[in-house]
Amino acid sequence: MFDKIVIANRGEIALRILRACRELGVKTVAVHSTADKDLKHVRLADESVCIGPPPSSASYLNIPAIISAAEVTDAEAIHPGYGFLSENADFAERVEESGFTFIGPRGETIRQMGDKVAAIEAMKKAGVPTVPGSDGPLGSDDETNMMLARRIGYPIIIKAAGGGGGRGMRVVHAEGSLLNAISLTKSEAGSFFGNDMVYMEKYLENPRHIEIQVLADTHGNAIHLGERDCSMQRRHQKVVEEAPAPGISEELRNEIGGRCAQACIDIGYRGAGTFEFLYENGEFYFIEMNTRVQVEHPVTEMITGVDIVREQLLIASGEKLSYTQGQIQIRGHAVECRLNAEDPVSFMPSPGKIERAHMAGGLGIRVDSHIYNGYTVPPHYDSMIGKLIAFGPSRDTALARMRTALDETIIEGIKTNIALHRKIIDDANFQLGGTNIHYLEKKLGL
Ligand code: ADP
Repeated sequence: MFDKIVIANRGEIALRILRACRELGVKTVAVHSTADKDLKHVRLADESVCIGPPPSSASYLNIPAIISAAEVTDAEAIHPGYGFLSENADFAERVEESGFTFIGPRGETIRQMGDKVAAIEAMKKAGVPTVPGSDGPLGSDDETNMMLARRIGYPIIIKAAGGGGGRGMRVVHAEGSLLNAISLTKSEAGSFFGNDMVYMEKYLENPRHIEIQVLADTHGNAIHLGERDCSMQRRHQKVVEEAPAPGISEELRNEIGGRCAQACIDIGYRGAGTFEFLYENGEFYFIEMNTRVQVEHPVTEMITGVDIVREQLLIASGEKLSYTQGQIQIRGHAVECRLNAEDPVSFMPSPGKIERAHMAGGLGIRVDSHIYNGYTVPPHYDSMIGKLIAFGPSRDTALARMRTALDETIIEGIKTNIALHRKIIDDANFQLGGTNIHYLEKKLGL
């Protein structure tokens, strides 16, 4: 195991990584911007290094500053968390070229999965089900593109190969608007992502978002930890997640999970990862792979008992996975509410000083959050201030505990989306389980 690592992130995930390091006896270096010197994990870390001014472009995305922080503190590895540089193949490579271990997949894997056309091709080869589509980038011949769309059947969606964050996509309902949509998406993709390659997929009208968590080591072992349902979204941002996904049988879980684990072996995957699928009428359709730890990883930890960040550290240090597939058992149900510093109605960010914070507790409640009394939420970053996770032997118990926990949670001085979470947990259709990705926006009248 490493002696010391750099945590190249902030907020709750930096604290989450620090906790896993402490358990393993690994020393930590917190790197932070000038706006973040009072972050909880900065205070708890063995060492801290200020890497730049508040804007992330000058700090959390500042590759030379992060690598030199590893150099001056004599650290051995860098954990990127999620967001920021976590899926930046160049960063992963620069880290390794500088003699440090990147806690994540190889740069070339990140690059392959970051190109959605290449990712889909690799998944098809590995036997992972994908969305019917163009099977490659669209060329410039209008006739061919019209033929393709007719063969797939409208509605279709045009997507940028280099897209991310829900940008670079356009739905087309009829042939009349196809060619215009292709050229618009192409030019947007070129300016946003520096890559104007686009492809075509069948547009699924009412899918759920279901994803599979995987772990793979460098000894040829890969396992899946079942699925999460992240269909409760607003503007492609997940709001509530749960595991297991309502209505997914053990047989179906093992079938799709097994394919994902095998795909990891086929592509030489290393570390924790997530296969994201749209799920409609009993079928899974791969849309993309996330090559990092995800915000919603705790719901999987709660129902499997596997510490995903600990496994990331073990894998990166060259050890074997702590579990075989046969040792993974799913028990009970877990739900996660993402707590954001934002107005519950307008969704405008609400940074500022937290005058009073009291987090929930009790059986089955887990709080992953960096906030404390008197902490000031800076305006420069994502508005998520923590996650409230409720576990129970059944879904009903988990939801009942979540309701109690939301009522117990007090955060004063800033606005939060706790009221929105109460509404979701009390929603009759959510309680039934299995609502699709459009449900929340429809409920909110958006
Ligand atoms: P990003 O990398 O930008 O998050 P994704 O490929 O993961 O892009 O797609 C983001 C979201 O767009 C999905 O969660 C889904 O809501 C919608 N979407 C993408 N592809 C399709 C499709 N083929 N049919 C229906 N919705 C889709």
